[in-house]
Amino acid sequence: MTAPLTIAIDGPSGSGKSSVSKAVARRLGVGYLDTGAMYRALTWWCLEQGVDLTDGEAVARAARELPLDIGTDPGAPTVAVGGTDVGEAIRTTRVSTAVSAVATNLDVRAVMRTLQRDLMARSAEQTGGVVAEGRDITTVVAPDARVRVLLTASEEARLRRRSAELHGSVDAAAVEATRDQVVRRDRDDSTVSSFTEAAEGVVLVDTSDLDFDESVEAVLDVVAAETAE
Ligand code: C5P
Repeated sequence: MTAPLTIAIDGPSGSGKSSVSKAVARRLGVGYLDTGAMYRALTWWCLEQGVDLTDGEAVARAARELPLDIGTDPGAPTVAVGGTDVGEAIRTTRVSTAVSAVATNLDVRAVMRTLQRDLMARSAEQTGGVVAEGRDITTVVAPDARVRVLLTASEEARLRRRSAELHGSVDAAAVEATRDQVVRRDRDDSTVSSFTEAAEGVVLVDTSDLDFDESVEAVLDVVAAETAE
């Protein structure tokens, strides 16, 4: 029996890791876990319940009690909290602005880590593998993954991509309006996870000069090379 094809992908905002990871999972016919969506869902829930995000204990309690349901089909990933589909709500600026405050809570991270490992194992059992993406998958959640990739891109490329996604434009004002969601959020997130430099055994893929299809191919090449032995 061959070991499940577990693939861990980390990277900063705008590196393209969500869309690339999803496409890689589809191409390989394995599950897909968006761990950022889990932190976003918890943030949405806290805001919804009026939990004070500066109250670490209250946020950790919310993490333990979060009625989260996450679907790992890369063709149609889903996120629901308490039966409500929050797929769109978790992408709003309100949530993006607040998520780092939740994700830098170490008790929250411990809860999420366990959940993420369980979800990865379940998905791998069902489909023979899983692509899990986030900020600490290669280093903390699944350092034993068969393939580990750090997807990066220059700050300029990342700002442009997010700006196009959020505002449908890459003019100066739109790029500036995106800065908080890319640069400030990554700076805050870096205080608890390290995703700007590849750890030992993690393969760096720089997508600054690659389009989407080329980025997917670059990751698939790494998977092929790493699993060739
Ligand atoms: O990837 P995405 O931008 O959706 O992630 C949202 C937030 O979730 C990040 O800004 C970070 O605060 C948190 N996150 C994390 N660890 C992960 C994935 C995401 O702290 N593995």
